[in-house]
Amino acid sequence: MINIPFNKPHVQGNELKYFKDLLKTRNFSGNGKYTGKVQKHFERKYKIKKALLTTSCTAALDMAAILADISPGDEVIIPTYTFTSTANAFVLRGAKIIFADSEKRTPNLDVSKIEKLITKKTKVIVVVHYAGVSCDMGKVMLIAKKHGLLVIEDAAQAIDSFYKNKRLGTIGDLASFSFHETKNIHAGEGGLLAINNPRFMKRGEIIWEKGTNRAEFFRGEVNKYEWKDLGSSFLISEINAAFLYAQLQDLKKIQIKRKKSWDRYQTNLKELADQKIISLPFLPSYSRHNAHLSYILCRNMPERSKLIFFLRANGVLSVFHYLCLHKSSFHKKREKPRKLKHAERYEQTLLRLPLFVDLKLKEVDFVCNLIKEFYSTNS
Ligand SMILES: *Cc1c(COP(=O)(O)O)cnc(C)c1O
Repeated sequence: MINIPFNKPHVQGNELKYFKDLLKTRNFSGNGKYTGKVQKHFERKYKIKKALLTTSCTAALDMAAILADISPGDEVIIPTYTFTSTANAFVLRGAKIIFADSEKRTPNLDVSKIEKLITKKTKVIVVVHYAGVSCDMGKVMLIAKKHGLLVIEDAAQAIDSFYKNKRLGTIGDLASFSFHETKNIHAGEGGLLAINNPRFMKRGEIIWEKGTNRAEFFRGEVNKYEWKDLGSSFLISEINAAFLYAQLQDLKKIQIKRKKSWDRYQTNLKELADQKIISLPFLPSYSRHNAHLSYILCRNMPERSKLIFFLRANGVLSVFHYLCLHKSSFHKKREKPRKLKHAERYEQTLLRLPLFVDLKLKEVDFVCNLIKEFYSTNS
């Protein structure tokens, strides 16, 4: 029996109140009151030029790929250690994906190797801030500027994380956030496209509204709306937006509680890390993270499998993470994979531990004691 799950999605308390309001006003489809409230929050507080709520982070990435005008043959640089959505968005538009390795010390893409991957066909650099820990955005933006490339941040895990004093998701030309129930705040399913480069504002809204200028029409700026561009039904429903609006009110509290658990893991496991039995996350000095994930690195895959099994036998659910995209069966059909050694090491050794708002510190201690017990007989 599992006593400590890996994740338990947060419930804020005001969700029902807002649902009741929707039942009264009977506005359930997208771009209504709650969508507006959430988008305004991001535009004001995060200084995002235009925030568009979407059905998922995947959908926001699809929008970003359309906005970047990706066409067949264009090359897009993407870390291999990420979720399929980061790459799918661009493959759907015909791009050739150039996979980049992780840094030695973090699962994020190794910025020092980006320039070697750039060709005349390169159009976009996509970064993923793994575990809410920032990529070296200063360097990424400089490289992009030098070569005339767009930067898209997959900030799915990075709400309220920072690169120096800048919020992640506000630095690249475009960025995506996820409000899937596994993320720090959620709408069941949901996402957000952050448009930071003003040249994408107008077209972004049209793509979002199924390729029409309906949003302009609703604001009374035009007297009819019509088909203007590519697009799809990217909008979130008001039901999900209302749920998310409630969650947003707890964001500060959520981050504080998650950080407490995250710190406790670090303190408890430091001894094993000092003995070089496991490794703990490395935090670059330019990064301030949001405690999205607590992970450790085991020495090898068989050891990790044994530890997962041991924890599960004691009622604790721990999980590994991404399978490198460059080695996936889908990509292998298209291209012969190169070796990307650091990402492959994270694929084999990274283990995520339970972390959610309601997790108690004594439960963190329980998990850590089990890990110590495991290594006392497996070191
Ligand atoms: C969660 C996640 C996604 C997908 O988010 P959805 O909202 O489920 O579409 C994409 N990229 C990364 C890095 C993620 O962590």
